[in-house]
Amino acid sequence: MTKISVVKCNNYKQSQEAVERAISLIGGIETFVKAGEKILIKPNLLAPRDPSQAITTHPEIVRAMIRLVKKAGATPIVGDSPGGSIRDIKNLWKVTGMTEVCTDEEVQLVQFEAEGAKSIDIGNPNIKPVTFSNAVLDCDGIINLPKLKTHSLMKFTGGVKNFYGTIPGLLKVEYHKYASKTKDFSDLLANIYTFLKPKIRLTLIDSVLAMDGAGPSAGNVKELNFIAASQDTAELDAFLLTILGYNISKYYLLKKLNITKKTVAAFEIAGDSIRELGLGGFKFPRGRMFEMAPKFMVKFLGKFLWIKPFINEDICRKCLICGKSCPVKAIHIGKHNCPTIDKTLCISCFCCHEMCPYKAIGFKKSLLAKLFIQDDANPKH
Ligand code: SF4
Ligand code: SF4
Repeated sequence: MTKISVVKCNNYKQSQEAVERAISLIGGIETFVKAGEKILIKPNLLAPRDPSQAITTHPEIVRAMIRLVKKAGATPIVGDSPGGSIRDIKNLWKVTGMTEVCTDEEVQLVQFEAEGAKSIDIGNPNIKPVTFSNAVLDCDGIINLPKLKTHSLMKFTGGVKNFYGTIPGLLKVEYHKYASKTKDFSDLLANIYTFLKPKIRLTLIDSVLAMDGAGPSAGNVKELNFIAASQDTAELDAFLLTILGYNISKYYLLKKLNITKKTVAAFEIAGDSIRELGLGGFKFPRGRMFEMAPKFMVKFLGKFLWIKPFINEDICRKCLICGKSCPVKAIHIGKHNCPTIDKTLCISCFCCHEMCPYKAIGFKKSLLAKLFIQDDANPKH
């Protein structure tokens, strides 16, 4: 039976105590890590943003885990490959607080792209083979430290989605070209997760400051004030979605991994009361093209049912990060150096929305989509 721990954590000053308690409730760090091992601690480092924006895993959670791994006699290293095109990884480490924590704790920060990579056939029908950073392949075990956020394509990014960062650099963007639909991307995530599973020791999610609405980078900071941990990443995701009010029987990625409501009902939950966490009102992002409409509608009226990104020129700062994040090169530089989206090329993968640092990319819906696709703020899907 899967054991999940839930621990209240009112602010990041309580991280050490909360992380220690969460891990001890599922068996203690020595259950997962052996002396002498090299353990990769993998936070979510999506983009160079301050931890207060709830886009990246908080550095104090990373610090607490580093100390635990050391206590078990293992050697921790810390790394993640950010989304899109990041030219200055040292700046990202500094802004996200990783440099300070890893310097204080005398731990190596690893740039996945600099460690080399191997390509492996992991059984994905669209992408053969999938390339992983050697930092991931060469460690003895992985401790996963995702951030709890919504996601425009996947609706939710927790533990399983965090492993997409094991793919180095712009390959992540490239793969979106072949897996732009939620189902295809879910298949890819399921394949990656299943491949890495023997190495994954545990997952602890940072949901002290979480993000709802238009995540994973343009949503609202939401104080959920808890952390949760489990040896099983996908089952932890299923648990989190359930307590946030999402009907997991409609979540394809979990279906693919054979996780159902029955699985969730059998979990052993340890720690603080979920009722007392006050999780009401969590807003999931709006649905995507086709996915919430009746099947007959998709078949006959599919071309009139769409959601496409648009650039708000009043907010845009012309940094052009969106252009570098687009897997099909659908973003061009237009008049006055403004980026423009070529609708004929766009595959609605929303990578640009994910990577825009200024929340300048929104969504436009067709009339039909407005009728059949719900907006934000509906936790019951
Ligand atoms: S839309 Fe966003 S990412 Fe693109 S140029 Fe404007 S500010 Fe930069
Ligand atoms: S312009 Fe379209 S295809 Fe390019 S990143 Fe944005 S959503 Fe994806």
